[in-house]
Amino acid sequence: MENNTCMACGACCAYFRVSFPDAETNVVSGRMVPLDMTLFLNSTQRYMKGTQGITPRCIALEGKVGFRVKCTIYGSRPSICQAFKPSWENNIRNIHCDRARGSYGLQPFSEY
Ligand code: SF4
Ligand code: SF4
Repeated sequence: MENNTCMACGACCAYFRVSFPDAETNVVSGRMVPLDMTLFLNSTQRYMKGTQGITPRCIALEGKVGFRVKCTIYGSRPSICQAFKPSWENNIRNIHCDRARGSYGLQPFSEY
């Protein structure tokens, strides 16, 4: 959520299950997603608390989706969050961004 676009959105943080390798909570990996904000998905994967279920919302998300939000662990967020880009950033469409935004009544971004 480094850009204003995402800070006024947050839909993807309250739409998908956010899972990632268990190693990302390990101090040795140098990443350190806060352990107490995660749960085991299986023997090798964890997920962010709150993102499993019918109405997902990441425990680390602050604010109101579609208005003003903040990731409270931005500097140590999981790799999947780092890789997730708004649609058409760098001219690449992200249909998952479009889908998450759509679920909150937000317009998808256009190519231009
Ligand atoms: S859904 Fe798209 S615009 Fe909204 S926070 Fe996620 S990446 Fe950013
Ligand atoms: S860790 Fe941060 S960027 Fe990732 S889903 Fe949660 S609030 Fe969003």
